[in-house]
Amino acid sequence: MEMKTKIREKFKSLYKTEGEVFASAGRINLIGEHTDYNGGYVFPGAIDCGIMVEIKPNGTDKVKAFSLDYDEYVEFGLTEEDKPQQHWPRYIFGVCREIIKRGGKVEGFDCAFAGDVPLGAGLSSSAALESAFAFALNELFNGGTIDKFELAKIGQSTEHNYCGVKCGIMDQFASIFGKKGCLIRLNCKTLEHKYFPFDPQGYKVVLIDSCVKHELASSAYNKRRESCENAVAAIRKNHPDVEFLSDAKRVWLEEVREEIPEEDFLRAEYVIGEVQRVLDVCDALERGDYETVGEMMYQTHFGMSKLYEVSCPELDFLNKLARKCDVTGSRVMGGGFGGCTINLVKEELYDKFIEAVKEKFPAEFGHDVKIYDVVISDGARKVE
Ligand code: ADP
Ligand code: MG
Repeated sequence: MEMKTKIREKFKSLYKTEGEVFASAGRINLIGEHTDYNGGYVFPGAIDCGIMVEIKPNGTDKVKAFSLDYDEYVEFGLTEEDKPQQHWPRYIFGVCREIIKRGGKVEGFDCAFAGDVPLGAGLSSSAALESAFAFALNELFNGGTIDKFELAKIGQSTEHNYCGVKCGIMDQFASIFGKKGCLIRLNCKTLEHKYFPFDPQGYKVVLIDSCVKHELASSAYNKRRESCENAVAAIRKNHPDVEFLSDAKRVWLEEVREEIPEEDFLRAEYVIGEVQRVLDVCDALERGDYETVGEMMYQTHFGMSKLYEVSCPELDFLNKLARKCDVTGSRVMGGGFGGCTINLVKEELYDKFIEAVKEKFPAEFGHDVKIYDVVISDGARKVE
């Protein structure tokens, strides 16, 4: 049964009425990894899986929520003391609280929701959840007056303050701003954004989930940040205006090669290259040149694996296999040490590639991968 029909049936049986339906999306990032905290660009887009919610104000000061996927019903109030104990209600509660903290209005409501973003796979199911509710509550209680960037920040603050995840703005930004057939280049320093067409006719975008968990990620992440800061500090001695690595030219890094540890140099080399690759990919997309896009994705993988050193054997294996199968572009997506590769594959090569992955990966690593086809689609919106 279609997701919307299921939600509508459940809502009706629970609350004996009908509400309005809103949806939001998970996201991919085509290129631009570890650039956010270096003041560079990221290049995400919303995808064709997300969260859908039916919702209606109920005239009380209580929220009544039903998750179809967890088959679980909860009620909670809207003051800070009412914080729910379970995981998924915290996202909803957090969004309500963050709207209220900003002077917006949220009163009691009934809702039922479901989703089809795989959890914890790197497609940001949590941002989809926050964005769907932030968008809906803005429409229902605030006449749509909270601007879209603020809605994204409401989602981000929800993660920070109610879910214990210190994430950047990209996921919620993509989920709120996403547009069918477009990727969005976000400048993480100025927060300016620009849409670029992404309509790879004759290609598919497929994510291969290595199912490896990012256990090393947080300590390594701090070390990478430190390396970047060291490189910036050295470059700044010669070029005082450099605030982030994204401000530095490649030759400026070369000037300080002997002054910083080799490791810091390699990390900075990756970041400066990656910032430029996002720009190159944007140029290529304006020409409809998907072969260049693909080549840049391979370069990113190389950089993440050999310079930034945030890959792992499973991801390197998937990347190499993609190359062998003539896949146009392939790279690790997300912070690294596990998760998915994102692949741009010609349609006629798709079946052969997937077959090879399903056969060769388990033979090497003893467990299966998961495969997700995605299409760049609309972000937060009213459905009906
Ligand atoms: P991801 O990388 O997918 O964002 P997170 O761990 O950040 O993974 O978020 C997953 C959490 O988001 C789940 O544990 C759950 O609390 C919530 N969530 C996501 N999708 C749904 C859903 N369809 N129904 C209920 N809760 C969901
Ligand atoms: Mg998340």
